[in-house]
Amino acid sequence: MPIRNRLAELHPEITAWRRHLHQNPELMYELHETASFVIDRLKEIGVDEITPGIGKTGVVAVIKGKTDTSGRVIGLRADMDALPIHEASGVDYPSKTPGVMHACGHDGHTSMLLGAAKYLAETRNFDGTAVLIFQPAEEGGAGGKAMCDDGMMDRWGIQEVYGLHNMPGFPTGKFAIRPGALMASSDEFEITVTVTGKGGHAAAPHEAIDTMLVAAQIVVSLQSVVSRKVDPIKRVVLTVGTFNTDSSASNVIAHKAVLEGTVRTLDAECRAMAEARVRAIAEHTAAAYGATAEIVWTPGYPVTVNHEDHTVFAAEAARAVAGDVIEDVDPILPSEDFSYMLEERPGAFIFMGNGDTAMCHHPAYVFDDEAIPAGSSWFVELVERRMKVA
Ligand SMILES: [Zn+2]
Ligand SMILES: [Zn+2]
Repeated sequence: MPIRNRLAELHPEITAWRRHLHQNPELMYELHETASFVIDRLKEIGVDEITPGIGKTGVVAVIKGKTDTSGRVIGLRADMDALPIHEASGVDYPSKTPGVMHACGHDGHTSMLLGAAKYLAETRNFDGTAVLIFQPAEEGGAGGKAMCDDGMMDRWGIQEVYGLHNMPGFPTGKFAIRPGALMASSDEFEITVTVTGKGGHAAAPHEAIDTMLVAAQIVVSLQSVVSRKVDPIKRVVLTVGTFNTDSSASNVIAHKAVLEGTVRTLDAECRAMAEARVRAIAEHTAAAYGATAEIVWTPGYPVTVNHEDHTVFAAEAARAVAGDVIEDVDPILPSEDFSYMLEERPGAFIFMGNGDTAMCHHPAYVFDDEAIPAGSSWFVELVERRMKVA
């Protein structure tokens, strides 16, 4: 495997960074220790520019190549946040913060990008500029969007962006990618069915309007959105996850029922259609029974869409690092907020194998440090290939 010698040498140091981050996980935008750690390493490494506070606690760093005749600027992104999970991984460097754990491997992503930074700052063997993006709040806080909203892409003149995610169940240090939709959008909905003043005695249903029955009809009808309105070739999931009423007695008809669910899809048109159908079904079904339904739709992350040319290039860089690359991996339905960066600039997101461990977001998940040289090398390869010194 043609991992550069220098990155193989840096492997123990990058592993130590990773384990430090693993022991000191922080959530969402509250990444004060984490961002400080990243900034301290970047200072030691000797990058050209460090800017904290982009997207609240995000950090942007710049490394200039030995020349800049190309005028090219490439963005490389890592996420830094952990999850509210009690660690049960059994590693001998566990989280020191009860209830908080790097269970998605963002400690690994951050460390691998720092490793690439160290290599690139030492060698500068490229013609252009590398911009390193360390983002907060990937796990539900839209930190990627926050950095974009702070004008990051224009401020640093970023022309294309790349990121990676480790993938349990896939051989360590191997890569997989696909052009087009790679990860799903995820929206949440809440449907509140109410009939004020029409709850009642279970023995006198004719004098009440039974919100339980109305909500149950809505749950059943929602099953038709995916099965009857989506092109069977496309992928959409609609799940109603909760069903609650304000009655806690078996002999009472509830005034109010609340349903909560999620819609995930790989297709922007399906996403818009699903929202319209959920609203129509809930409102009209409720009306048919003399009740009303109020729908709150909370948009989540957009679909992560890899750009064609940049996917080919990202795969080429991965092949140089790790040999065979899967270039038509199946899309998956978790979502990823790198999608916001790919909406602003062309680029690609790649999966990197993390070996045989529990899935991301599981308390027993373990990031495989053996993947580090491959991940750091991929970042380096993107920079040196795209911005070759003449
Ligand atoms: Zn995650
Ligand atoms: Zn993640």
